[in-house]
Amino acid sequence: MLKDLLSRWPLIQQIRTRADGTGLEAMSQRTRELRPKTDGAQVTPSICPYCGVGCGQLVYHKNGKLISIEGDPQSPISRGHLCPKGADTYELHTHPGRLKKVKYRAPYSREWQEIELERAMDMVAERMWDTRDRTFQEARDSNSLMQTTAMAHLGGATLDNEENYLIKKLFTAGLGMVCISNQARI
Ligand code: SF4
Repeated sequence: MLKDLLSRWPLIQQIRTRADGTGLEAMSQRTRELRPKTDGAQVTPSICPYCGVGCGQLVYHKNGKLISIEGDPQSPISRGHLCPKGADTYELHTHPGRLKKVKYRAPYSREWQEIELERAMDMVAERMWDTRDRTFQEARDSNSLMQTTAMAHLGGATLDNEENYLIKKLFTAGLGMVCISNQARI
């Protein structure tokens, strides 16, 4: 019993193995058996949702539940690193204060009300169409214009080339919007 206890003592192990006390010999059995929270989780590669740098992330999940989001060492852009904002992506998804309902403040109202996403999308579409109807210019000085400058679209950083292509096609070719930009172009 005593012998067993002594043999597990890090100092004895250090003397016995002539190690410098910074490796396994300095760990208790409990520490050696500790496993990372991502142990046994499935992992899905992703991209940080925040800015145009596009750092690689690994999304760990188990049984449909998010476990952790870490930097992806295989990413040629970030090589496993995330800035403080990207390192907080897990909290972005899981923080109890995260808003999950659309908030709407009616004109002249001082109160916010929660509305369904479906209704919010309908309201956006109706207002866009109404604005286009009121402001669309077919011609100026006998030259064909076919445009409206009354609406603009600013894309987010995580939009990729294909999404930007579709946005430009829908908004410019479809609605005649010319004021279209993207926060980041990578
Ligand atoms: S980790 Fe930071 S630098 Fe990288 S994409 Fe996210 S916000 Fe940008």
